[in-house]
Amino acid sequence: MKGIVFDIQNYAIYDGPGIRTLIFLKGCPLKCLWCQNPESQKLNPQISYFKEKCLLCETCIKTCPNNALSLNVNEITRDENLCVLCGNCVEACPNKVLEIIGKEYSIEELVEIALRDKPFYDNSDGGVTISGGEPTMQFKFLMELLKTLKNKGIHVAIETCGYFNEDLIEDLTDNVDLFLFDIKLTDNEKHKTFTGVNNDTILTNFSKVLSKVGNERIIPRIPLIPAANTDEKTIMNIISFLQQINYLGPIHLMPYNKLAKTKYEKVGMGDLYKDMGDLTEDDIKEITNIFERHSFQVIINH
Ligand code: SF4
Ligand code: SF4
Repeated sequence: MKGIVFDIQNYAIYDGPGIRTLIFLKGCPLKCLWCQNPESQKLNPQISYFKEKCLLCETCIKTCPNNALSLNVNEITRDENLCVLCGNCVEACPNKVLEIIGKEYSIEELVEIALRDKPFYDNSDGGVTISGGEPTMQFKFLMELLKTLKNKGIHVAIETCGYFNEDLIEDLTDNVDLFLFDIKLTDNEKHKTFTGVNNDTILTNFSKVLSKVGNERIIPRIPLIPAANTDEKTIMNIISFLQQINYLGPIHLMPYNKLAKTKYEKVGMGDLYKDMGDLTEDDIKEITNIFERHSFQVIINH
């Protein structure tokens, strides 16, 4: 069994307890306007192109077996219908302008990578966090990976947007040690506007997972997006939701940054990049205070 992975990061400290390895699976059902990993959205591998660094030398065009590339005014364009993702152009580019995003890995390969850092997990109560995209988009692969890692004695967490079929909950709660579960907005219309999907499934899933695993094994993560959810009313709505379902654990706040702009351009989504506004340290402090006044412990994840 193979899964499509677009990144692996070692020694992470913000995505679950202790020192962790992060494995990012490709594919996401949401299209958040502020997405920090636009390269994660498509399920299949894709090629990114950094136009500003391109020498226009046409080496890539000459190496393409399918004539998928052409020089178009001052940039290289690729016909996705002709490209078979062979990687020849990526290898040949003298300026590393092209990159394949998304590589197939077997369970064994990922477990072998994760096990290299097992001494760090053991010394820090860390482990492996499977992120995305949305990891449940590759559900069979995810389950196999979680089970294999757990059999090796590794603590496993997932980062989820929560938008998955509720039939998956039992398998997930049986095999995930910690859910890092996004709660972005409680207003359905706003959620749809900003992410492309309704939030009823997400809020119901959060509530169901919480009732199965308890406060110890689920943490809500709230991305702080100035144009979308940082006003007091919206924060209070999130607090009310958590209070209604008796969530008593900590909250992760994830402040927005604008660093993803180049990523959008590299994967040909430059016109979809949106500047969602500025978030100051004072804004973060104020939101933290609101949560703390309602007895939630706050952890800021930059
Ligand atoms: S990946 Fe292969 S088929 Fe696709 S554009 Fe590059 S050389 Fe051509
Ligand atoms: S080989 Fe690289 S630098 Fe040369 S034209 Fe192609 S993408 Fe640009």
